[in-house]
Amino acid sequence: MTTTDYLPIVPLGLETIEIEGFGSVFCRMAQAHNVSVYTLAMHLRHWWRQRHPNDDRAKVNVINATNPMLCGYGPNVEAYVSIVREATGSETIARTTLLALKNELDPNGHSAVRWNRAWCPACLDEAYRDGRQFYDRLAWAIPAIQRCAIHKISLSTNCPTCHAPQLHYHHLGAMDHCCKCKNSLRSAPDTWVAAPQVPLYERECLDIVMKISMGELWIAPEAYRVFITTFAEYLSPLGKKISRFAYKAPRRPQLAREGRPPRLDTLLRRCAAFGVNPTDVLSDPEGTAKSACLLEFARLDLPSSAKPRRAAELINLARSRLENELNEAGLDTVPSLRQIAREVGVSTGFLNFHFPDLIKKYSALRKANSRKSIQRSRKQALNFLLAGPIFQYPSSEFSSQDRLVEATVEHTGIGVHAARLAVKAALKERFGWQSYEKYRKRRRRDPTAKWPPCD
Ligand SMILES: [Zn+2]
Ligand SMILES: [Zn+2]
Repeated sequence: MTTTDYLPIVPLGLETIEIEGFGSVFCRMAQAHNVSVYTLAMHLRHWWRQRHPNDDRAKVNVINATNPMLCGYGPNVEAYVSIVREATGSETIARTTLLALKNELDPNGHSAVRWNRAWCPACLDEAYRDGRQFYDRLAWAIPAIQRCAIHKISLSTNCPTCHAPQLHYHHLGAMDHCCKCKNSLRSAPDTWVAAPQVPLYERECLDIVMKISMGELWIAPEAYRVFITTFAEYLSPLGKKISRFAYKAPRRPQLAREGRPPRLDTLLRRCAAFGVNPTDVLSDPEGTAKSACLLEFARLDLPSSAKPRRAAELINLARSRLENELNEAGLDTVPSLRQIAREVGVSTGFLNFHFPDLIKKYSALRKANSRKSIQRSRKQALNFLLAGPIFQYPSSEFSSQDRLVEATVEHTGIGVHAARLAVKAALKERFGWQSYEKYRKRRRRDPTAKWPPCD
């Protein structure tokens, strides 16, 4: 354990969405040391000067800070965070501010935090009734947060008694008291304004606050610029191609602005428009740009492609054609279904869909017809062989079975396989079944055995 010159103070609500704001920690510190906020600030200033004679950052008057909650990411906040960190030894103190975003956002810090305090009246009331310390949450300092995410009640900004906006904290650091009239800030529940609707950017802000609270907000170098340029690169080829159709995308950032770090509200607005989470943009800009592109594509309304309508005449034409083919069965050649479909001007699927029964009959006819034509050509080939060639085998003209096959193919026009079968059948015819069976048996014993067997 390290000893420090001041009492150790740890931020409340660490690692939850209810992380404390820096101004609130400062108030609690003043209360813990039983001094006013001003006295503590002066004391810290002298203490810091003694320890760091060359560092004049402590001259900043925390009491007059533009934002009383002191949880932005400007230089004053940074100075005060380092002073209090050293004074209290609390390493988690930076999580009570937006300092984690410092390098990624507009250096001016415009509109990052409120210029007055805001608080949830229900949280205040609950803390009072439970006897707990009431404290300001970091999330309440962000202008986009308009309500308490837990109680769904609009945040209060003015004293219920004197109606003054709380531009400072109470001089003794009593956060539940007005800085001006010193009365309690508690208000009657019937004056609270319910806010059931989820306001714009609330989710995005709370995601950032949660990551800060966990100490897990990791930021890639130049994250926002990388995100925007990657997105533009991915989308540009398609963007051009589809822009002729319906390209309904939200307004894209101007090129000139891409180079500059955005303001916090700009970052939130862009993230909401892209449908991505700001913490993802900051930690993995390239991956998030790709997901944003996918979302963009999903948003596109592609032109509707009207399917060609089949006229009733076309159906009748196809039916009569099929029926004709069926009635003319017995002809030598039956055209294929694909051929009929092409001639009628439809697809085979169309015929199958509209005339399932006719197609069934037609394919049976085709099958029978092809069987018949195979038999016919086999017979033709056999006749050719038996008319002479088979009896001249083996001879100089037909020195091998392959020569016989070639001659059959040439004369009858049948396929090689069919010709081979015909040669085999002709050989059987010539030498008889018995000797063929003998040959087969010998062939099993000796694969080099030749036909016809030499008995
Ligand atoms: Zn609340
Ligand atoms: Zn007041």
